[in-house]
Amino acid sequence: MKMSVLEEKLRQKNLKITPQRLEILRAVQNHQCDHPSAELIYQAVKKRYPAVSLATVYKTLETLVQIGEIRVAIVSDGKTRYDTRMDRHHHFLCSACGGVQDVEMRMDCLETCTPESLIGKGTIHRGEVIFHGICSGCEAKQAPAPNTPLL
Ligand SMILES: [Zn+2]
Ligand SMILES: [Zn+2]
Repeated sequence: MKMSVLEEKLRQKNLKITPQRLEILRAVQNHQCDHPSAELIYQAVKKRYPAVSLATVYKTLETLVQIGEIRVAIVSDGKTRYDTRMDRHHHFLCSACGGVQDVEMRMDCLETCTPESLIGKGTIHRGEVIFHGICSGCEAKQAPAPNTPLL
């Protein structure tokens, strides 16, 4: 999204546009493939705005979620991981490196056949799956080098 469009959105919500806020959004966009945590955004923003506080980063991320600019991808180990991709997709979380990758998967079933245990619990708007495992990068690191002689 162009920054001018974002500025307009913030203005419509009567939110002040500060260079820090814009930098925070930019940092989330730059780290999209990592599904960054608030801490990672904080580290990135601090490089250009050393005075920024972690609390400001948290609050701004919350605001950006509220205005629908970003969303929460997953919460893992108590850390919220953010996502600028708003279309429906799922996630694969690596338990070794903490990496979060996007997963494309059709789940039409969730719209057409509500699981029995959900009936009566309310209106479902979307369903998301989190796959847990070890990513191929971490697997490659763990596997012994192919030329290592077996002792
Ligand atoms: Zn990994
Ligand atoms: Zn994602």
